[in-house]
Amino acid sequence: MFESERKELVEKLKERKISDNLVLDAFIRVERHLFLPKALESHAYRDVALPIGFGQTISQPFTVAFMTQELKLEKGAKVLEIGTGSGYQAAILVEMGMRVFSIERQYDIYARTREFFDQKHIQALLKLGDGTIGWEEFAPFDGIIVTAGSPSIPTSLKKQLAVGKKLVIPVGDKNSQILTIITKVDESSFIQKEIPSFTFVPLIGREGWES
Ligand code: SAH
Repeated sequence: MFESERKELVEKLKERKISDNLVLDAFIRVERHLFLPKALESHAYRDVALPIGFGQTISQPFTVAFMTQELKLEKGAKVLEIGTGSGYQAAILVEMGMRVFSIERQYDIYARTREFFDQKHIQALLKLGDGTIGWEEFAPFDGIIVTAGSPSIPTSLKKQLAVGKKLVIPVGDKNSQILTIITKVDESSFIQKEIPSFTFVPLIGREGWES
């Protein structure tokens, strides 16, 4: 279903400088409409964020593609996602051949996505909890992606990133954030690249916003 819509979406992503074939192929294969409430299915391949219930959203496809491309992952990489939400971003990473670990703080969202992943045999390790403190047990990660807006960069996430790898996180106030891409040069030094004007729902937790 919706195959031609998915192809059109991928063409739009290419026009906006998404060129990583691993990312583009995943967008062809992952069926975004399955990650949405039934009533919104027909809007799934528009390049917009959409509500998924519980006050949360599925990110805009361009944003998912852009952030994923910025991680510069190689197949088999161990990736941590903060903010599982609908599971779409996690499913894109799984489709790309990554080992995915994803944390969600809201029980209802976590439970629904977990059931959906089981049903569809999407192989990712999901956890209920505060992602701002990372997932120590499986660190270090070859990439960390935060899909909610944070007031600052959580120290735990910088610690749990492997040397030479990237953390992609929106940082700013609650209305607008700068997409911040951090490369860990060695245990204590980082290079930072910033791309303005993104809008995410807030990252709530010990190293994020207060609830
Ligand atoms: N990646 C998701 C985007 C979901 S929106 C997708 O593809 O659909 C961001 C999600 O982050 C929300 O579900 C929200 O509940 C969750 N979130 C906010 N703060 C969090 C935290 N500290 N730890 C884990 N999840 C968090």
